[in-house]
Amino acid sequence: METKKCPRCGKIRNVSDYNRDPTKKGDISYWCKDCVAEKSRTYYQKNKERLKEARRIRYQKEMTIHKQRREELEKEEFEKQGDNYIRNQKW
Ligand SMILES: [Zn+2]
Repeated sequence: METKKCPRCGKIRNVSDYNRDPTKKGDISYWCKDCVAEKSRTYYQKNKERLKEARRIRYQKEMTIHKQRREELEKEEFEKQGDNYIRNQKW
């Protein structure tokens, strides 16, 4: 079994403990699976709040666009139907 030393944790591990990565030398990723997992976990923890905030802003923006579009459509309908539109809305 081929082994490779992980430069991050310094452990010598089987190549099966590394993710496959065709872009890297030897077709395996630079760091072992554990280090890659730990890094992405740390990244997520660090960016959790930022990601949440970005998602919230995007959601609000979409809702605003949605609302504007609906108001435009309503205005269009109103202009097309005039009085009928108001009557239809009430009854
Ligand atoms: Zn490692």
